[in-house]
Amino acid sequence: MTLKLGVIGTGAIGQEHIRRCNNVLQGAKVVAVSDINVDGARAALQRLNIEAEVYQDGHQVIQSPEVDAILVTSWDPTHEEFTLAAIAAGKPVFCEKPLAMSAEGCRHVVEAEIKHGKRLVQVGFMRPYDSGYRALKKVITDGEIGEPLMLHCAHRNPTVPENYTTDMAITNTVIHELDVLRWLTNDDYKSVQVVFPRVTSKSHAKLKDPQIVLFETQKGVRIDVEIFVNCAYGYDIQCEVVGETGIAKLPEPSSVQLRKDAKLSNTILVDWKDRFIDAYDVELQAFINDVKAGQLTGPSAWDGFAASVAADACLKAQNSGAIEPVEMPPRPDFYNH
Ligand code: NAD
Repeated sequence: MTLKLGVIGTGAIGQEHIRRCNNVLQGAKVVAVSDINVDGARAALQRLNIEAEVYQDGHQVIQSPEVDAILVTSWDPTHEEFTLAAIAAGKPVFCEKPLAMSAEGCRHVVEAEIKHGKRLVQVGFMRPYDSGYRALKKVITDGEIGEPLMLHCAHRNPTVPENYTTDMAITNTVIHELDVLRWLTNDDYKSVQVVFPRVTSKSHAKLKDPQIVLFETQKGVRIDVEIFVNCAYGYDIQCEVVGETGIAKLPEPSSVQLRKDAKLSNTILVDWKDRFIDAYDVELQAFINDVKAGQLTGPSAWDGFAASVAADACLKAQNSGAIEPVEMPPRPDFYNH
């Protein structure tokens, strides 16, 4: 049986996911899309050479009897509404990160899902599907470096648009680290502080860039995350785990090493779409397979909530300059299976 997908939001990642569902992955097909820019949606389908129904409104996609499951790839502030509507319609939904704009919004999704009685939501945190992060986690869980004590991480983009503001460094970008570092260390955050170094001349008035986010976890691990979204040189994700007996580092994406013109060099990627291209394939194939098998296993609404609880504390810390607590309620039994 081919799983029939409806995609809400046909921007950059929406188009990427439509392409991969129809041309790369097995067992699913996009049959309906919507975007507030309807002409843009039609043009995207034409470019991708894909035939699908185009709706004016995401809710029409969710309600369509032709659609079995939903992908939400529209702007961040629309995620909660469409995910809640998919749950109300009883349809599985893959929602790009963030699940909602605040922990409160994520809690609405968690509550609706628990009320429904069965997992319907997977959040688009793809890093746990990345082969590099998986290899790094295996080193940790195999005990090869002892217990983790410190993590040094960096998230660098070459540049961001003018509408990217200081808070978005947390809600749109650090949110990935907030999820993957919990998963990597099997730990939760206890407190957070945000420090602002000298601002790069490549930023703009509404964005303080770079930022350093400092966490303490429940187990006492210290994590520093540098977030630098106008770094100019490339899209670069770094993660180094300092353990009791050794240090483990996220592998670099493979690239040919060049000896040329008296220089030794490797290429650094510049586009996020390329950096995690395989991980996106694996996460969406897992969603398709899990929907067909009747049981979702990927990053859950609870994971989306946990990341947002920490993100809310980061936002508070950005404004206060103080060390802010991260207050995470206990995980409901519903998410333990
Ligand atoms: P984008 O701006 O290129 O595309 C977003 C699209 O959503 C636009 O075409 C816009 O017209 C449409 N849209 C907005 N409101 C809508 C609505 N109410 N109904 C239907 N369509 C609507 O942005 P993008 O880079 O594609 O990002 C989309 C989402 O995916 C964001 O939430 C972003 O955080 C997430 N994202 C995740 C990753 C990842 O690594 N997992 C990477 C990129 C983007």
